[in-house]
Amino acid sequence: MKPPHLLILGSSSGLASAHRASSSYLLDLDTQGIMIDCGDGATRNFLAAGYRAEWVSEIVVSHTHADHICGLPYFVQQRHLAKSSKPLTIYCAPEGIDALKNLLVLGHLYPEWLPFDIRWVPITPRTPWDTCGIQLTAFPTSHLSRQRIFAPEHGYPDPGDCYAFHVDINGRSLVYSSDLGSLNDLNSVPQPIDWLLIETTHVPLDELWPWAETHRVKRIILTHLSDEFDEAQIALAGKFPSISAVVAHDLMLIELS
Ligand SMILES: [Zn+2]
Ligand SMILES: [Zn+2]
Repeated sequence: MKPPHLLILGSSSGLASAHRASSSYLLDLDTQGIMIDCGDGATRNFLAAGYRAEWVSEIVVSHTHADHICGLPYFVQQRHLAKSSKPLTIYCAPEGIDALKNLLVLGHLYPEWLPFDIRWVPITPRTPWDTCGIQLTAFPTSHLSRQRIFAPEHGYPDPGDCYAFHVDINGRSLVYSSDLGSLNDLNSVPQPIDWLLIETTHVPLDELWPWAETHRVKRIILTHLSDEFDEAQIALAGKFPSISAVVAHDLMLIELS
């Protein structure tokens, strides 16, 4: 049996990149896969890595910003055209489910026409769920605090929370920050953290390294990178010898064992 892996499908920030797909990550669990977020270009990189769309049975959506969900209709279309019959489960904030359903219908991906069922599961924060032999727990962050005030005040639906995820894989922990309001959003995530997959858009790196040391993070994978991101900044992590850090790139494969 192949050990579990994390495949970076999209390492770009919210600003489109000429060289990277938008936010998307794949947990390769040997016989099946879980996709976390599905930004622009995720399906292309997924196919480039040699996977078949039907192999992914679950998609976890951290929040509904375009750079995290705009590849979702295209991935579902890929499964449709590949005549996949395997059911697909999509986890999302309860407030986002109707919007995502409507997004698929807008793309003419009517449930009645799809050769597979989609099961929509509202995420319950801080409540672990088991799937595909691993355990996931969602932790709400403050990333969408402004939107959650603005939207209802202006007659738009509440977008729900943005979540970071703690993933327990055979007793090792991967934490995906998704987008944050601040590093404090991760303070309640269980520690130690074996791998921290963390966005760089809203997190100052000079705050990240000491935070990671205090919170017993062993390895950091920097992602959600703009084309202007200076990879030389990673050298500053060298002051904290307990931490190892890498900069993500599309199709990077990380063994989780
Ligand atoms: Zn983002
Ligand atoms: Zn966002």
